[in-house]
Amino acid sequence: MQPPPNYTFASDNTSGACPEVLEAVLRANSGRLPSYGEDFLTAEASDAFREVFETDCDVYFVFTGTAANSLALASLCQSYHSVITHEFAHVETDECGAPEFFSNGTKLLLTAGPLGKLDPEAVERTVTKRRDLHYPKPRAMSLSCPTELGTVYRPAEVAALGAVAQRHGLRIHMDGARFANAVASLGVAPAELTWRAGVDVLSFGGTKLGSPVGEAVVFFNRPLGEEFAYRCKQAGQLASKMRFLAAPWTVLLRQGLWLEIAGRANALARSLAEALAALPDVSVLYPVEANAVFVQLPEHVHESLRRRGWKYYLFIGGGARFMCSWSTTREDVDLLMGDVREAVLSGGQ
Ligand SMILES: *Cc1c(COP(=O)(O)O)cnc(C)c1O
Repeated sequence: MQPPPNYTFASDNTSGACPEVLEAVLRANSGRLPSYGEDFLTAEASDAFREVFETDCDVYFVFTGTAANSLALASLCQSYHSVITHEFAHVETDECGAPEFFSNGTKLLLTAGPLGKLDPEAVERTVTKRRDLHYPKPRAMSLSCPTELGTVYRPAEVAALGAVAQRHGLRIHMDGARFANAVASLGVAPAELTWRAGVDVLSFGGTKLGSPVGEAVVFFNRPLGEEFAYRCKQAGQLASKMRFLAAPWTVLLRQGLWLEIAGRANALARSLAEALAALPDVSVLYPVEANAVFVQLPEHVHESLRRRGWKYYLFIGGGARFMCSWSTTREDVDLLMGDVREAVLSGGQ
């Protein structure tokens, strides 16, 4: 008999919302408040961002990461511009052309780079390759932190990209669908990884972190976000009951809950990676710096895991991807490891 499917490690968005956040949503459910973001709960959440980032940034709340990324990129570019990004970037591989759609045709220019990171020299080459009218003028770069391979940029690496950006008049967007995992992993001030290193606008992920729904778009370069509310409205991303998109952030950011739950997910991912790396015929593919573990497993191990109901993705990064989230437990890791160990040691017999 087939066991029921187990989505524990399939993604960090297979979890529900974390209890503290859900309680905040319930508290936000009382009373009649102004709509479309004019309420005090939205103001409170925006202030929490300004505290965490130690700067007077502008904050907008949208429903999905795809919307956050595409609308942010659209606000950095004209339609004849281009955005330099990594060939594995979510904006390129997993957003169904939304960045191009919302920017009316801004082209993504792809570069390669080790460990899913943009390489400053590759960016520089892409910018300087052509200067003529016939080439879509490079105007921005978009980097994911953590990357799609679960690695994390150091502030100095972002600053090196920031220097290239400054030389060539590029704006910088950071896709932080798992930004909390990056900050928890590095233990740096959020400002160091973003605006102090040259980032103009950040998509800050709430859903994978532990919200029921919702992402924030944070403009450090405020003039770039001047008419952003219109973009949100036009794209169907302006929530009338904004309080429900905003309220999760206050509880996540104010008491350090965001770093606590992201740090726990990171630690479980590291320990899963260590246990996997200790097995024969198993190799961990990338440094585990956030909450993702990519691993190469023999085919018979995949078959055995599938028979036991484990669900996980194979299409990213050239291996199996196991994600940890706020709800992952030590027992979950032990259960998966027990099944992997048994399958590996059986040698397919
Ligand atoms: C999940 C994710 C997003 C956002 O995806 P949505 O499904 O649109 O919310 C964006 N970037 C990265 C790197 C992601 O992993």
